[in-house]
Amino acid sequence: MQFAAAILYETGGPLAIERVQIGELKTSDVLVKVHASGLCHTDLEVIRGTLKAPLPIVLGHEGAGVVEAVGNGVTGVKPGDHVVCSWNPNCGHCFYCIQDLPILCEAYARNSSRGQLMDGCTRLSCNGAKLHHHILVSSHAEYCVVPEAGAIPVSKDIPLDRACLIGCGVMTGVGAVARVAKVSPGSSVAVFGCGAVGLNVIQGACLVQASPIVAIDVDDRKLEIANQFGATSTVNPTRDDAVDSVRNLTAGRGADYSFDAAGNEKCLQQALEAVRPGGWIVILGKVNFDSYVSLRFGSLIGEKQITRSSYGGARPSRDFPLLAQYYLEGKLKLDELISQRIPLAEINNGFAAMKKGEGVRTVITFPS
Ligand SMILES: [Zn+2]
Ligand SMILES: [Zn+2]
Repeated sequence: MQFAAAILYETGGPLAIERVQIGELKTSDVLVKVHASGLCHTDLEVIRGTLKAPLPIVLGHEGAGVVEAVGNGVTGVKPGDHVVCSWNPNCGHCFYCIQDLPILCEAYARNSSRGQLMDGCTRLSCNGAKLHHHILVSSHAEYCVVPEAGAIPVSKDIPLDRACLIGCGVMTGVGAVARVAKVSPGSSVAVFGCGAVGLNVIQGACLVQASPIVAIDVDDRKLEIANQFGATSTVNPTRDDAVDSVRNLTAGRGADYSFDAAGNEKCLQQALEAVRPGGWIVILGKVNFDSYVSLRFGSLIGEKQITRSSYGGARPSRDFPLLAQYYLEGKLKLDELISQRIPLAEINNGFAAMKKGEGVRTVITFPS
C-alpha cells in the first residue's frame, strides 16, 4: 500500500512529503492508521543531527490512531482498536527485560539506533529506496507499522489528537514524578523548564499532591501556563535567582525533588543546587550527547540522588490506559498542551515554531 509520509533526507531538513510504500505485514506487526502525531523535541534533535539517526528517515514517535491490520501472530490488538504508540517496545527476554528493566531492552536499543524494527528489518520504502523508522514508530505519516509491544490499546472515549500526547510528553513528565521519583504527598518539587515535559512534571506533581510546586522558566508565557497546570509558585530567573527562590519557598532547605526539564547545563547545575540534602534530582532535559557538564562539587554533598529518566519509568500497557482514564476523569490536562493542530503538509512550519520556542505542542492531525 502507499500513503503520504514526511521524510528527512538530510540533516537540517526540510522534510519532504512523499508517497511511501510498505510491504506485507510480518508476524508481530501492527499497521496503524495514524490520526494524530505530536512534534517533539526529540524529532527536532534528529533533524538538527544532535541525535544521530540513519537517513532517510520518517520521524514522529508521539502517535495515536486506529489499528488497520495485524500480522498473523498478533493477539493483543485487533483492527478497529484505538492505540497510542510506545516508542520503547521491548523484547521480553534479553538481559534487561528479564530484570524487569524494559526501557533498557537490548533489542530495542540495537534496532532503534539503526532505524529498524525489532526483527532488524525496515518496512518502509520510497520509490524502491529503503526508509528508516524513527524509534520504532514513524508516525509523521498517514500509516505506521509498529511491533505489537508498541501498539497500546486505550479507551475509544479519548479523542486521538489528545491521546497521542500520552505516548511521549505526558508519560515522560508524569511518569518521572509518579513512577521514577515516586514523589509522595506533601513533598516539595522544583521544576526547571516549562515546555511540554516540564508542564507534565508539574501536573504529575499535582496528581500526587506535592506542595509546593515551584515552576522555573525564563519565558513568562510558559510560567502562566505552568500556573494552569498546578504550579503553586513561579520564578523567572531573568528577574529572581532560581536557587534562592526555591530555598525561600522550602524553609531554606531546598526542594525534596528537583526536575531538570530544560536541557541546558546551567539549569542542570541549578536543579542540583536547589535540592535539599537527601533529596532527589531527576534529569529529563538533554544536552548534546558529546558535551560535558560541570557540577560544583559542594552541590553534590548531602547524599543527593541523581537520576536520569528517559521515558518516565513507562510500562506502556499499564500506564497509557491509566493516563487516558485520568484525562477522561478530568484529572489530567491534555487539551491545554496543544497549541496548534496542523495538517502533515505544514510539518516544516510546525518545527519552525518549535525552534522559536513558540507554543507547547504542535499536533499533526489527519483526516479520518
Ligand atoms: Zn518525544
Ligand atoms: Zn529486551
